[in-house]
Amino acid sequence: MIIIITPDELKRISKPTREDGRAPDEIRPIKIEAGILERADGSSYLELGGNKILVAVYGPREAQIKRLQRPDRAVIRCRYNMAPFSVEERKRPGPDRRSVEISKITAEALRPALILEKFPRSVIDVFIEVLEAEGGTRCAGITAASVALADAGIPMKDMVVACATGKVNGKIVLDLSEEEDKSGEADMPVAILPRNREITLLQSDGNLTEEEFKEALNLAIKGCLKINKIQKEALKKKYGE
Ligand code: ADP
Repeated sequence: MIIIITPDELKRISKPTREDGRAPDEIRPIKIEAGILERADGSSYLELGGNKILVAVYGPREAQIKRLQRPDRAVIRCRYNMAPFSVEERKRPGPDRRSVEISKITAEALRPALILEKFPRSVIDVFIEVLEAEGGTRCAGITAASVALADAGIPMKDMVVACATGKVNGKIVLDLSEEEDKSGEADMPVAILPRNREITLLQSDGNLTEEEFKEALNLAIKGCLKINKIQKEALKKKYGE
């Protein structure tokens, strides 16, 4: 039996499940550059879909505030900030609950990769500036920060790479856009050390069954491994093989 499918039917059958036409396991177009700021010790610039993020790293340097110092290791401080012009409606400048939370979880996600014992009584500052936001900025910030830390020459056990998964229209998908984040049923940002797959961040907003959670986690790891290749390429481009 021969089945004839008209172009219209073909379009309907093969209609992508996602608004922007991506496959469920497809990340948005991504670009990472290392070492683009002159004054910082390390820096990076990342674009992921409509996200544009700049990261500057300073240190390790002596912690001026004595109570910050640890006698046996360096301390990592992160500041995640969204520019007032980074979102559709002007964002009020300065920290808010969300940016304080993201700054804290970013430091926690990055810390396990860093060999901090080499720099007692020091501080490493990571400034993450979101110039344009389009969903998934906390993950993109962590991914970019890891490249900037490597660019600063901070000794690391591995890179840290992050990617969100979630549930949109009943389907588990990778790297949610702002639209999908808003309309979806769940959003799950994940950060890992790619070499041993150690999870350094796992947040979940929404409801997932146990099966969906496993699927989402596996997909997030797959996404992280893809993004890790781009991180490495960015560093290779700056420093050679
Ligand atoms: P993430 O950026 O990690 O996905 P959220 O889950 O909080 O963090 O999603 C916030 C997204 O909503 C941002 O990425 C951005 O695209 C969008 N957004 C729009 N307006 C604002 C705002 N005023 N503050 C924060 N996010 C905003």
